[in-house]
Amino acid sequence: MSDLILNFNSKFSKKIKNPKNFLGGKGANLSQMGRMGLPVPPGFTISTKVCDIFYKNKKQLNKQLTKEINKQLSQIERETKKKFGDLKNPLLVSVRSGARVSMPGMMDTILNLGLNDKTVMALADKTSNKRFAKDSYRRFIQMYSSVVLGIDSFNFEELIENYKLTKGVLLDTELDEKDWDALISDFKNVVKEKTKKEFPQDVYKQLEGAISAVFLSWQSHRAKVYRKLNHIPDDWGTAVNVQSMVFGNMGDDCATGVVFTRDPSSGKNEIYGEYLINAQGEDVVAGTRTPQHITKKARINSGGKELSMEETMPKVFKQLKKILSTLEKHYKDMQDVEFTVENKKLWMLQTRSGKRTAKSSVKIAVDMVKEKLISRKEAILRIDPNSLDTLLHPTLDEKSEIKVIAKGLPASPGAVSGKVVFSSEEAERLNGMMQNTILVRVETSPEDIHGMHAAKGILTSRGGMTSHAAVVARGMGRPCVSGSSEISIDYENKLFKTDQIQVKEGEIITIDGSTGRIILGEVQTVKPEISGDFSKLMSWADSFRKLKVRTNSETPVDTKAARDFGAEGIGLCRTEHMFFDEDRILSVREMILSKNKNDRNKALAKLLPHQKKDFIEIFKIMNGLPVTVRLLDPPLHEFLPKNEKEVKDVSNSLGLTVTEIESRIGELHEHNPMLGHRGCRLAISFPEIYEMQCRAIFEALIECKNKKIKSIIPEIMIPLVSTEAEIEIMKKLVDRVANQVKAENKTKIDYLVGTMIELPRAAIKAKDIAKHADFFSFGTNDLTQTTFGISRDDSGKFLNDYIENKIFDIDPFISIDEGVGDLIEIATLKGRKQNKKIKLGICGEHGGDPKSINFCSRTGLNYVSCSPYRVPIARLAAAQAQLKK
Ligand code: PEP
Ligand code: MG
Repeated sequence: MSDLILNFNSKFSKKIKNPKNFLGGKGANLSQMGRMGLPVPPGFTISTKVCDIFYKNKKQLNKQLTKEINKQLSQIERETKKKFGDLKNPLLVSVRSGARVSMPGMMDTILNLGLNDKTVMALADKTSNKRFAKDSYRRFIQMYSSVVLGIDSFNFEELIENYKLTKGVLLDTELDEKDWDALISDFKNVVKEKTKKEFPQDVYKQLEGAISAVFLSWQSHRAKVYRKLNHIPDDWGTAVNVQSMVFGNMGDDCATGVVFTRDPSSGKNEIYGEYLINAQGEDVVAGTRTPQHITKKARINSGGKELSMEETMPKVFKQLKKILSTLEKHYKDMQDVEFTVENKKLWMLQTRSGKRTAKSSVKIAVDMVKEKLISRKEAILRIDPNSLDTLLHPTLDEKSEIKVIAKGLPASPGAVSGKVVFSSEEAERLNGMMQNTILVRVETSPEDIHGMHAAKGILTSRGGMTSHAAVVARGMGRPCVSGSSEISIDYENKLFKTDQIQVKEGEIITIDGSTGRIILGEVQTVKPEISGDFSKLMSWADSFRKLKVRTNSETPVDTKAARDFGAEGIGLCRTEHMFFDEDRILSVREMILSKNKNDRNKALAKLLPHQKKDFIEIFKIMNGLPVTVRLLDPPLHEFLPKNEKEVKDVSNSLGLTVTEIESRIGELHEHNPMLGHRGCRLAISFPEIYEMQCRAIFEALIECKNKKIKSIIPEIMIPLVSTEAEIEIMKKLVDRVANQVKAENKTKIDYLVGTMIELPRAAIKAKDIAKHADFFSFGTNDLTQTTFGISRDDSGKFLNDYIENKIFDIDPFISIDEGVGDLIEIATLKGRKQNKKIKLGICGEHGGDPKSINFCSRTGLNYVSCSPYRVPIARLAAAQAQLKK
């Protein structure tokens, strides 16, 4: 047991291979700081292994563990020269959780442990501050009762509020020692009433209870939700840190704060943080008091009047600054540090890699390369590709009319509009109805995680840049404006007010997390672009990656956006999307409803110029890059008239009766359209459809050539092939049309013909199919659907249950499943065996998912193709995949 519980100064921890796995993030860093000789309050870490032992021992600490914990406690007593439970010089400790990765606000913390009716008097004598001692005791009773005894904090808050009302005061600071005495007695009565037991006075029992509670909090609902959202395995467990208390609330030469070594919002290389004089740690993050700036510069920039730490405690500030620089150099990453000043002495309570916005993570990585702290490779590997998503999202269109009703802190960037809701439940409810919401709260707490996830943006009236709302929103990539003291929220009447205006639940507002503005109504947004540090990082990524990145796109707007984001071609142009425009849908319907080939050809002839025009436009934008054009895929009935008016329109233009049309619609009805008459099966029945599309592609090519537009080599893709015969027939069809167009125009045409691999049979028989294909593109949407036999359109209804029951770690329509992956590997091997030069890519949604991109890289595909806004994510993920090989 002795090596499962380690003192912060233990030499043994140096030998641990993965200290974070064993000691948890917080424990590993405290032990590192201890060994570096930084001022860390003495303490020890109970490792994550013990969490496992605890759960296996019926959620109890066994005797051996208790003995070892007490032994470690004696060591702290020696280091602090205080004694646990002593009546003269009592040692007080904090008990905190610390998992491998930081789970902000997820786990429970208990401060001031070791206080009881007697030690509180000793603390009062020793500090000559009775009020402070009593205040600390009541805080402890409150926290312990809530975390360990399961009594809702509300019971205690209510007592304080009533007490203040009776006394006729507003603030807690207006309560004196006697008031706290009275409240302590009331608090203890609540405990007795709720638990039928006295509040525990035995300090060792208190400690045992607190440690057990931290272990139990690993399985709390909110921790489980956080793990699920962040894909953190359940079996990691948490460590527990027991640390001697230092106090930031013993007077005006005391303080507590949170500081980042660089600005977590912009990434600027200047320390950024907040502190509170005469306060205890939780006061800063809880958002109950709005904190002051650390640096003078930040205070001046924000127009604040309250003095910064640099001004009130210049000596301690200097020492802190030096430590921050030491920590950053050691960890080679931006640090998020918690500290306390106790009677002018600085104590470091925690350091960890700081959560940051995507914008700042890019800037910090690029800057650190310039500062020679890290290499380009490290910079690339450090950024979570998915986090770039927020940089690729729209910002407010400053040209549009904006009615700013209030301002707050720019806590998490991005602009978003939505309906005002005041509870997480409402945010979740409306999200289920596909409605965008802005969650408006005085402050958020871990209970709000589900609502913050469901809402599109978060607005709080209290709390700073390091409040729960700010930290969690940044982590989630949700726009957030925090601490807007200009608004007052009335939960009961479901509205918030400013001096000028009242906004009710359901009204639309816009928040701009980059500037802190709160705006009435919906505001237009503008597309982001890649420049500066972002483009530098992307260019480094491009220099490492081997996988090409293409885009799925068929409209000129999307295609242009994808090119701007660095797409190296089109991997999937879904031609059916070109059929829905108003000026062509009627011809499409004519084509489908035609009774004979002749009529069908007439309708197709009307469509040809439209398709040709679309292709010319796309070929022009792609300027020589490859374009994969997929021929018509969905079942024909998708294009049929859906309502009376549409039926009438078609009947007028085709000269058919409404009854005739309705009967044709009935004929085309399918029970399982996804498995029905679609993809190349359509062209087996009606080859003229694909013939028209091929002609449009080839004629577009010739026209581009005539207009001196840089020529491209189109890759004509046949969907839903499962047999060799299908692809053989289709290939002949394409060649036939190509030969006709060549002959008509007396010119050469270069093109490739390939197929999608989106059915298990196609993957297994890839060798035969490859005889007739220049390329394969894995259509993993359909391949996942058909491998599992799970409808991609209906899976949303039950996949959550599969994830909850651990049947799936993640939705297989988001990240490639192992079984689907095996089919891709089989097809890759067999396809290459038949045709060494075969080009291989992926164009299902998985092409933009970093984990799946890693798989594609390992499998040796040539490219991935994804939606335009995911192109930069894919470029970075492809580089990471290469570097991890
Ligand atoms: C696929 O099935 O993966 C694919 C890209 O095609 P679609 O989504 O159009 O069926
Ligand atoms: Mg498909």
